[in-house]
Amino acid sequence: MPVNDAIVRRLHQILLQVADIRGQIERGPKQIKASQTKAQQARDGVANCKDEIKKNRMEADRKQLQQRQYEAKLYEWQGKLNAANNNREYQAVKDQIAADTQANSVLSDEIFEILEHIDSLQNKLVGLEGECKTIEEDTGKVQAKLQERILVLQGELLRVEGELKAAEGELPEDFAAVYHPLVKTRAEEAFAPLDDRSCGGCNTGLPPRVVDQLRQGHPVPCSSCGRWLYRPE
Ligand SMILES: [Zn+2]
Repeated sequence: MPVNDAIVRRLHQILLQVADIRGQIERGPKQIKASQTKAQQARDGVANCKDEIKKNRMEADRKQLQQRQYEAKLYEWQGKLNAANNNREYQAVKDQIAADTQANSVLSDEIFEILEHIDSLQNKLVGLEGECKTIEEDTGKVQAKLQERILVLQGELLRVEGELKAAEGELPEDFAAVYHPLVKTRAEEAFAPLDDRSCGGCNTGLPPRVVDQLRQGHPVPCSSCGRWLYRPE
């Protein structure tokens, strides 16, 4: 008994459903991973900002210590200035004081800049921590929702695979011998509907004889891509 196109059409619809559900199930873990990556990036952003604040604080501390050393030195120079024995010595100490005062003033500017930078980093950190919290909450929700969805899809897959088995059981024996190896390698790509006068899979135009056969409800393979063709509904 030749296979009729209603059963081929039905099988193709079920195979497409199986492929769609499997695809959705496979995408689930990827989507979960993507949202976890996003949360990790947000946490990294917070950690990096904290690190930067710490580094700047250390730099400010270092410069403040240096400033105290300059101040102690200036105090020392002042004593030497008062104890200078002659003009030359006096002038030399005075030049030194001027140079150190200048260096100290540059240092003060640098410290001020670093402290300002720390302030702006702290503001940035508040923003990043807020974003991170939101992203982490969203990640939790997305994950729970996807896991729930995957469970539903797995149930659906079992149901549709059952339908597939039942429909496959109705295949005439000679077509079943063609069908099983074909579907094993090509799955839902094993079939395509007739598209006007062309193969709905590869778009190749079909000879009139083949189109006639299909229109009479007899599935035939496309000579170009090998998909079994059937009359669309
Ligand atoms: Zn084709």
